[in-house]
Amino acid sequence: MTGVIAIDGPAGTGKSSVSRLLGERVGAHYLDTGAMYRAATLAVLRAGASLDDAEAIADTVERSEITLIPAADGGSTVLLDGADVSGPIRSDEVTAAVSAVSAVAAVRSKLVALQREQADESLVVVEGRDIGTVVFPDARVKIFLTATAQARAERRHEQNRAAGRSSDLDEVLAAVNKRDHLDSTRAVSPLRAADDAITVDTSDLTLDQVLDELTALVRS
Ligand code: C5P
Repeated sequence: MTGVIAIDGPAGTGKSSVSRLLGERVGAHYLDTGAMYRAATLAVLRAGASLDDAEAIADTVERSEITLIPAADGGSTVLLDGADVSGPIRSDEVTAAVSAVSAVAAVRSKLVALQREQADESLVVVEGRDIGTVVFPDARVKIFLTATAQARAERRHEQNRAAGRSSDLDEVLAAVNKRDHLDSTRAVSPLRAADDAITVDTSDLTLDQVLDELTALVRS
């Protein structure tokens, strides 16, 4: 089997776990494009550029080298200018700033080119927000994962607690809603389902149920 399996959707739908495990099941590589936007955001924060200054953001990201290498657990190790930043890109600071950085057109064109280069494999699961609409409009399968805002916030809240981070459900819900609003209303490549995507609502499904459904879609 060859081609791209595009998995898009808002934060907290279980996209990352599902994409990684689906890749293992069907023998595909996995590409986490959100990790690239997070690494770009970390570069911008470290450079001290203002989030209102699109030109400074574009310059910083243009000068940064972002690399994803496959990790033993099926995920990715993320390098920024050669240093492992897989942990720091998941910080609250990066999560709060990532929508502003990913709304800059020059950032998107650089990372989209990188995504197309890296997905040059026989079969690859590519996870993001604009994979089925912009990055790989000819993907062999396009899936759009959704879930209610409440379900998505609860998942994030549980993940925070499991990782030993303090977490307030109302704050998580507000942050999830804010990020999704910014991602779906930006001028370039907004988050949306491709016209030919299959939408799967994961609100009331377990991870295994979602995986079974997606595996059947990929194999059909
Ligand atoms: O998937 P994750 O939550 O790690 O994505 C972080 C952010 O990166 C998203 O909120 C969005 O702003 C941006 N992103 C994007 N396009 C993608 C993947 C992620 O704009 N293909």
